[in-house]
Amino acid sequence: MKIGLEVHVALPTRTKLFCACSTEETEEPNENVCPTCMGFPGSKPVLNREAVRIAKSIAFVLGCKIREKISFVRKVYFYPDLPKNFQISQLDASIGYDGEVSIKTKKIRIRRVQIEEDPAKILREKGMTLLDFNRSGVPLVEIVTEPDITSEQELRMFMHELRSILYYQGVDIDREVKADLNISLGKERVEVKNVTGIKNLIDAARYEIDRQKRIIDQGREPIKETRFYDEDEKITKSAREKEADEEYGYIYETDLTDYDTSGLVIDRGIIPSKEAKELSEKYGFDEQVLDELISLDRDAYRLIVSAAGRYDPQIIVSVVEQLKKFGEQSISEAAFEALLGVGKEVSLTREMIDKAKKGESIETSVNKENIEEKVRKYMQDNKALFEKARKDTKVQNFIIGEISRKYRFNPKQVSEIIKNMNLFK
Ligand SMILES: [Zn+2]
Repeated sequence: MKIGLEVHVALPTRTKLFCACSTEETEEPNENVCPTCMGFPGSKPVLNREAVRIAKSIAFVLGCKIREKISFVRKVYFYPDLPKNFQISQLDASIGYDGEVSIKTKKIRIRRVQIEEDPAKILREKGMTLLDFNRSGVPLVEIVTEPDITSEQELRMFMHELRSILYYQGVDIDREVKADLNISLGKERVEVKNVTGIKNLIDAARYEIDRQKRIIDQGREPIKETRFYDEDEKITKSAREKEADEEYGYIYETDLTDYDTSGLVIDRGIIPSKEAKELSEKYGFDEQVLDELISLDRDAYRLIVSAAGRYDPQIIVSVVEQLKKFGEQSISEAAFEALLGVGKEVSLTREMIDKAKKGESIETSVNKENIEEKVRKYMQDNKALFEKARKDTKVQNFIIGEISRKYRFNPKQVSEIIKNMNLFK
């Protein structure tokens, strides 16, 4: 079985790819439009530098080689969503090529990453075809894989990984990903076009795998064709011949001369699964748990990195998980640190989180007694040291440090409690 994907995602820019119209979604159709994104004759596209920069960053995190000089083509087709009769896209001189994305079982090769414009939206109502140009000209990247995926499970893993990598580039693909699936169990390639959303993509793949399997089991061969996914019936259907036979003509886009991308500073982002692996190896986190915590949560990632190596990994994970339940993972690192001092046995309360955010002391009575008990024990075992500490703040700090480290308490809290216990007097 061979599965390849062409995934289209919208880039988070303020304005469209070739004009200054806003990309913001509006209730009213045809509000954010101008002659360029409506394809009027004589209008000239002006390339959005930020869109190219984000696309370059995406190509980079997907392990692609980056082209310094890119150019555009006109992909010619006749359809109401494109009044100028071509879509501006990339072909041979795309921004990225030859990348790879690692999933647990293998590496999925990325053939290319290219920039293109979204066409208008077609609405069919009461026998009419309506056009909304708000979407027209929104910048997209198309990510094309090699047919390296060989099961539904691998498709799931790949989409999870891609979603997580793109999330750290500011792209939410859960919201509006569009993909074409190429699936072949036999000799011929079947293309399932324009599937929207990750769930539909997986469902469409599962259906198509079963369908082709059944044909092969009957001793026949699936034919080469284009299909589409019917979301209501949850099945793929053969597309009308006209659509299936569509062949695009490509011509060089002369309105956009070769564009030099070398000056665009890429956002290196992170590859969350790789970070989870490295942090786990270095500090003893549970890799699976960490991966789930950070894969779609950059605040959780920020907090974990801020405390890794200084606190017990289990305490860090427990506090982050609890913060997520409260929807409070955006707290400052200082507030997070105060909560870490409470330890993993204690469940956080709204009050504790609010106090931590205000920088107020949040010691719980349970924890306070616990610390007092451990301090007393430490004093019993180190009487001479406490003698010395009476006159020497350096020794005092040493004791605080030792107790905090030994029992994994927050040093600030230990210091306060010792002070209240009057042990250095
Ligand atoms: Zn426009």
